[in-house]
Amino acid sequence: MGAELNLQTPIEYLKGVGLHKADLLKKELGIHNFEDLLLFYPFRYIDRTRFYKIQELNGDLPIIQVIGRVIAKEIIGEKQARRLVVQLKDETGVMELVWFRSLSWIDRIVHAGLVVIVFGKPNEFNGKISISHPELEIYNPTLKKSGNPTLQPVYNSTEKLKQSHLDSKGIQKLQEILVDTVAAQLSETIPDYIRQKYALVGKVQAIREIHFPATMQSLDQAIKRLKFEELFLIQLRLLHNKRLRTDKFKGAVFATVGDKFNEFYATKLPFDLTNAQKRVLKEIRMDTQRGVQMNRLLQGDVGSGKTVVALMTMLLAVDNGYQACIMAPTSILANQHLKSIQHLIGDDFIRIALLTGATPKKERRKLHEALLDGSLNILIGTHALIEDPVQFHNLGLAVIDEQHRFGVEQRAKLWRKNKIPPHMLVMTATPIPRTLAMTLYGDLDISVIDELPAGRKPIKTIHLYENQRLRMLGFMRQEIAKGRQVYLVYPLIKESEKLDLLYLEAGIEDISTAFPLPDYRISIVHGKLNAADKEFEMQRFVKGETQIMVATTVIEVGVNVPNASVMVIENAERFGLSQLHQLRGRVGRGAEQSYCILMSTNKLSADGRIRLNTMVRTNDGFEISETDLKLRGPGNLEGTQQSGVLDLKLADLVHDQELLQTVRNEVIDLFDRDPELAAEQNKILKEFFQDANPGIHYNKIS
Ligand code: ADP
Ligand code: MG
Repeated sequence: MGAELNLQTPIEYLKGVGLHKADLLKKELGIHNFEDLLLFYPFRYIDRTRFYKIQELNGDLPIIQVIGRVIAKEIIGEKQARRLVVQLKDETGVMELVWFRSLSWIDRIVHAGLVVIVFGKPNEFNGKISISHPELEIYNPTLKKSGNPTLQPVYNSTEKLKQSHLDSKGIQKLQEILVDTVAAQLSETIPDYIRQKYALVGKVQAIREIHFPATMQSLDQAIKRLKFEELFLIQLRLLHNKRLRTDKFKGAVFATVGDKFNEFYATKLPFDLTNAQKRVLKEIRMDTQRGVQMNRLLQGDVGSGKTVVALMTMLLAVDNGYQACIMAPTSILANQHLKSIQHLIGDDFIRIALLTGATPKKERRKLHEALLDGSLNILIGTHALIEDPVQFHNLGLAVIDEQHRFGVEQRAKLWRKNKIPPHMLVMTATPIPRTLAMTLYGDLDISVIDELPAGRKPIKTIHLYENQRLRMLGFMRQEIAKGRQVYLVYPLIKESEKLDLLYLEAGIEDISTAFPLPDYRISIVHGKLNAADKEFEMQRFVKGETQIMVATTVIEVGVNVPNASVMVIENAERFGLSQLHQLRGRVGRGAEQSYCILMSTNKLSADGRIRLNTMVRTNDGFEISETDLKLRGPGNLEGTQQSGVLDLKLADLVHDQELLQTVRNEVIDLFDRDPELAAEQNKILKEFFQDANPGIHYNKIS
């Protein structure tokens, strides 16, 4: 061991890590080599300057440390309640340490008389203090403390790792070796001049500090630097990809606004476009005549009129001799698009077809032919339309609706449907916060429709508690008497489909009693129905044959019934904000005043209360998504899971918005000044793209 060690050395060669531990590190933490481990940061630090006395402890304290002597231990309880309880004593009192897992292991280590340092969060019950699953260290006043004794790093570990002595302490020991040996080999990722501008410490120093901080200040410096790096490299990659595309790929040129577009505008469009729609169309028009591929994200609230914009863009493509397609995440939604587009343009205007998984073979074959010979102008479909047999004559534009349900792979597949990649218009179902858009869609240009069509009455939202149910039922009756229709939605609880159905069944019974035949008719739609039955029930509601639609959230996407003016959401506290907003967007589509009634239990969590209050306060999808991001964090927002760009270790899209904006601007400037990264001062960035995988390989497109 020694000179030959480097960052890429497999982890089993690290002193103290054998094959068994190496295997665990790989499986449990994805750590394969020295560098992986070095880049595995502590998730917090324990302030070791202070030792508490047992008497001082209470349930409100965070993680603390105590020194005491073990005076007794016993295993009590049966089965799940089996636990090891240790009595710990210092000169001020006695407390309990409790383990529910790894009993035998702890039992072997801990025995009466042992003096230990205990780390953990105190709980208080009936005046008694205890700590569950504390970290233990055998007190040894003569032992040299590793690292700095004031801020001790804490690493995430797992049960399996802990059993092999790779608890936080064990990992810390390994980090100590790495920091002393190979850390110095880490290469700098941020050019000097940028580091100077933002007073960022060097990479090596930052890594040393994050594992073994000297002081609170130096730790802050390290974290600031590493956050900057995280965001910087993401933006560099995104904006690099964007540049690559605009440089390397020609785009179809939509040179003219032609007959179809003009005819549609003059004779078929039944309303005036909003200013926002006009502005976005202008942006698209500019994009598509430059000879460069368009990659644009279209954000707009439910009902803001994105579909019309998409349709007019498709007409532009058709006018210029190209085909266009829309890809939607579900066949219900694809059908809906077809219907609303047909409704707008009528028959015989252009040739449109639908392709979903359900399209029969024979029809499919005809469709393939019409696509290939170019006689079919617009194809609407699900992901069925990116499958290999689907070949276009000349695809000039691809619209993706509700992008968050599609992965990057699928986007890339659409690209390959034409020699020149088609222009891409990506529409989100609900708006997403700016910081998220900059990260998730940082390689796209962004258009925003921030205005609803004129005359649209804002939906009135009220929140009622369970004991106000009669008011809700009375209101439903009143609206139905006016000829309106009502949605009544139950939550889907992922953990238990059985429970879902129970809720739904109980709900249906109540509603059927409150709204009996023959005066009232009810559609029922839930996940257990087959597609045909679902469609049948929906159609009854769409045609107005039923006045009430009781459903689980399957109606979230795609239903458009302008006469439905009331949305009742049961157990609304169980829904996420964006889901509530989406559901509410199902009403308010006609001329009538629409309402959303949020039913909830009396006992609301703090988050639940914020969610419902937010819904009552505002109809603005952007505001709602900002609140959602703050409440849940980016990892839990729809569409972020499959996106690797959000694997942020330190930076956080809620708290680091300003930093993100700064970094993005810096990278934009950088590419403006030095598009090829040719300057000496940007050399390390150029190397970054030579070494690293720059995301999607667009150049693979034939
Ligand atoms: P989105 O896809 O953004 O949710 P849609 O395009 O489906 O919205 O439009 C919602 C409804 O509003 C549709 O019935 C559409 O015909 C109508 N609409 C769109 N733009 C306008 C407008 N400028 N004025 C009036 N109604 C409009
Ligand atoms: Mg839509």
